[in-house]
Amino acid sequence: MRVHEHLLSRGDLSLADRQRAQHALALDYLKAGLLDHAEAALLKLEDTPFEGQARLALLANYERSRDWTHAALIAQKLEHSNQGSFRGRLAHYLCEQAAAFITHQELEQARFLLQEAIKTAPAAARPRIDLARLLASQGKTEDAYHELEEALASSPAAIPLMAGPLAEFAVACGRSHDALELLKTNYELFPSLDVLDAIVALEATVEGPSPTARDWYVRHLEREPSLVAAAKWIAGEKLEHEQFHPQVQRALDHAVKPLTRYRCAACGFEAKQHFWQCPGCQAWDSYPARRVEEL
Ligand SMILES: [Zn+2]
Repeated sequence: MRVHEHLLSRGDLSLADRQRAQHALALDYLKAGLLDHAEAALLKLEDTPFEGQARLALLANYERSRDWTHAALIAQKLEHSNQGSFRGRLAHYLCEQAAAFITHQELEQARFLLQEAIKTAPAAARPRIDLARLLASQGKTEDAYHELEEALASSPAAIPLMAGPLAEFAVACGRSHDALELLKTNYELFPSLDVLDAIVALEATVEGPSPTARDWYVRHLEREPSLVAAAKWIAGEKLEHEQFHPQVQRALDHAVKPLTRYRCAACGFEAKQHFWQCPGCQAWDSYPARRVEEL
């Protein structure tokens, strides 16, 4: 660090060497964790051959410190300089900012940002899912349901993340039949455990508590050898040796738990919940919407 600082203080350095030293110094600061210094050094690399690398490093820096406003400014610059598309990332930043507003009960601000996020990345699932949850929390379950219908149309791969809330909002606004049809159609095309659970839950509300709703788990087993589905089916069955059921169920549930996690496709980090940004490697959208057993 001192060598590079000394180099930069010399008056006889060529422009190219000065830029190289500036870049090396910025990397020194980053390695040392001196983020404020790193930020200042990286900003000095605008309009130099190191501009692209510096912007990416700055972006990572701002993301780490959850400074979404500055991260968005850099992402916009990267987007305009043809360094790939950053629209998905920009939408995530807006969603992160909206989440902060929701925490502080500033719901109108949050709604505005989520709508901006939808405009920024219309095919992204998260803005619509977050907006649907916000609307539902305000009692607007019909609007929330509609938002998820849109999300389903624009990003069908994310349906396992939406199936549960879709069923919940449908029941709340009296659209259970529609939702059931929608989920069944989708399940036929892309069978998934979360859609299966939502269908079972919805059938129980539409038809009353019927044992046939759980037949869906058996039907699923005919398609996929799923331990998760088997455990869920057995949980509702009367066994011949019913007195041993709790022990058997406990063993099954224990075995099933790791299979119901989500796994980052970039680094393999596993978690009980789905993340839009991996807490292990910081990658965005690296978690598939499906559970480990379905990968
Ligand atoms: Zn990861």
